Amino acid sequence: MIKTILAAIMGLSAGSVAAATVYTGDKIQGVPVISQLDVTDLAPGQTHRFMFRSAETSIGQYWYVPVMVAKGATPGKRVLLVAGVHGDELNPIAAVQETLTSLDPARMSGTVIGIMGASTPGLQGITRTWTINDLGGAQINPNRTWPGRENGNTVERHSWLIMNHLIKGNVDAAIDHHTGGTGTDFARFIFVFADSAESVTLARLFPVDQIMLDPGYPGTLEYALVQAGIPALTTELGGSRTFVPEMVKLGVDGNTNVLVHYGIIPGPLRPTSADTDVFIGNDLESVNGAAGGFVTALVKLNQAVTKGQPVAVQRNAFGDIVHTYTAPADGRVAILGTDAATERGGAIATILVKRDSCAGKQCDYGDVDE
Ligand SMILES: [Zn+2]
Repeated sequence: MIKTILAAIMGLSAGSVAAATVYTGDKIQGVPVISQLDVTDLAPGQTHRFMFRSAETSIGQYWYVPVMVAKGATPGKRVLLVAGVHGDELNPIAAVQETLTSLDPARMSGTVIGIMGASTPGLQGITRTWTINDLGGAQINPNRTWPGRENGNTVERHSWLIMNHLIKGNVDAAIDHHTGGTGTDFARFIFVFADSAESVTLARLFPVDQIMLDPGYPGTLEYALVQAGIPALTTELGGSRTFVPEMVKLGVDGNTNVLVHYGIIPGPLRPTSADTDVFIGNDLESVNGAAGGFVTALVKLNQAVTKGQPVAVQRNAFGDIVHTYTAPADGRVAILGTDAATERGGAIATILVKRDSCAGKQCDYGDVDE
């Protein structure tokens, strides 16, 4: 009985938000290490830098995540900006850095928290996955591990610690920045949970070409946040591995608009989706390799396509066409494969589609790895 009560109390405390920022006493490159954040503790009117300590490594050390907190002189909404859940998606790093460094907290009402690279080993290796030592190396997709598990594997625990010791209790709205994975290129695109009206409002503040009203993809940070009562969206800022100025600007403009929207900083708004010819869809149709060989795309990102229109051809080693790929539905080109040598099942194109309704399994939502 006592054990049961104790377990219940511990269960409650495990999920609750601590009342104070916990400093471990360590510094890394001069930056204080924390294992718990509570923004109410921090001095107002300043930008604070931390290294957030997450899960243990295989050699008994820790993984750390760089965090900036711009705390306004007066209280207000608290917005989280995340980059680097996927370690090969780098435009988001610059977009979060530029947004944070542009702020003057002495003139802000509210707080902006930046996570400048969530998946430390993924970023070091410029790779989408996080390899754990299980059975000689299992590759984990970090954006399928949220909201994490306290006693899960390293990546699941890392996500759990970020969700419970960094985000919950500190955040009123969040933007999780991504790009296409290595080997693909993405249009200026946002995923947003269709049933979260405030999240959709935030999505429209980004000057993107396409918005996907999504069903909630389990394991993504975006969906875990929405389920935790925090409006959120996922951006796709072009392609991987490099800084592309126009894509970084897209992220900074959208972030800034969200801060203006919540009154954290003064306006005016920068360009929004009202200034683009935004296409809003609710389904994705993926075209995947039906053969092996070299692919030539016949369409460009964001191009309008009609069902049956050729979108790519594939050739064998002798240059003979072995397959012609066609659009499976009317829509806009959201993703294109960029690795010309393409295997069976590989990404060739994904089309954003607008259906009257997704009821009755009319939408398959593609096989996109958000
Ligand atoms: Zn991603």
